[in-house]
Amino acid sequence: MSQLMDALVKPAPGKGLELRQVPIPEPGPGQVLIKVHKTAICGTDVHIYNWDPWAVEHIRPPMVIGHEYVGEIAAAGAGVTGLRVGRRVSGEGHITCGHCRNCHTGNIQWCKDTQSVGVDRDGAFAEYVCIPESNVILIDPNLPEDVVAFFDAVGNAAHTALMWNLVGEDVLITGAGPIGIIAAGICKYAGARRVVVTDINDYRLELAKKMGADAAVNTQREDLHEIMHKQRLVEGFDIGLEMSGSGAALTQMISAMRNGGKISLLGISNKPVPMDMNSIICKGLTLQGIYGRKLDNWHQMSYMVQGGLDLTPVITHRFHYTQFEEGFAAMNSGKSGKVILDWTKQEGLS
Ligand SMILES: [Zn+2]
Ligand SMILES: [Zn+2]
Repeated sequence: MSQLMDALVKPAPGKGLELRQVPIPEPGPGQVLIKVHKTAICGTDVHIYNWDPWAVEHIRPPMVIGHEYVGEIAAAGAGVTGLRVGRRVSGEGHITCGHCRNCHTGNIQWCKDTQSVGVDRDGAFAEYVCIPESNVILIDPNLPEDVVAFFDAVGNAAHTALMWNLVGEDVLITGAGPIGIIAAGICKYAGARRVVVTDINDYRLELAKKMGADAAVNTQREDLHEIMHKQRLVEGFDIGLEMSGSGAALTQMISAMRNGGKISLLGISNKPVPMDMNSIICKGLTLQGIYGRKLDNWHQMSYMVQGGLDLTPVITHRFHYTQFEEGFAAMNSGKSGKVILDWTKQEGLS
């Protein structure tokens, strides 16, 4: 009989998660077993916890969820070379086919047959997770584990923000969820002149300011165009990062862009979003959809953190994994940034 481990499992269709014992996965040929140290709760995990329409469509219980983590290599399957047991690692959560046109050209983020850890297969909210060798990301042991735990989300932010040259540019970020907040820090680090973040959640707008946003605008109370004037924007924003999935936010973004501006779209909407086609055409805007992250983003984020990008203000809660209910409650309250779950210590110790 195989050995057992603790894991957060979606046991059956419906709300909630269960902490239960499941077999430790066996690394097959070309696979690596990772001992998980710390994990972070993603918006995706909250969708799965709440069992909303997205989860109903995408999740097939029973399964272990979670995809943001840091840990160390515990064992390697046959044929794995160059990855020593004990190395600090994280993992790219999209497992790609390796054979399609985008995989062949290094654009793995556009693979047509991608499988997601913690969504399409067992995830990392467990004492161990098993992934293919090619998805292992080596992590410098000097990087703080609390921060590396959510590098998956930092990668989304880096992919979205670094799509464009940011030096001296004015950036509008719509949506102050954790990825929007992280993106504000990345844009400032990468040389943006002004970074303005909009949302309707004051708690998260405050976090965006802590990450270096020049202005954080609650669009329910404040007029974006007035703030633009105060921030001395002349022709509109050069760069837009849409991270809310809200049609109203996208409409406002399009109206606030300068002619020739560039927009990255990351926020996913739960319904079709109407778009002001005429403005996009007449302003000559460029719109770029963003999915996942590029493998190179993993290198960029390590180097940005080593170069001084401080991501710790994004972390608002830390719990032992046995207190996962409190972690999900914090995420559902809207009064949180990133929530970290510790899988190493014993309960009650901190
Ligand atoms: Zn995530
Ligand atoms: Zn592929």
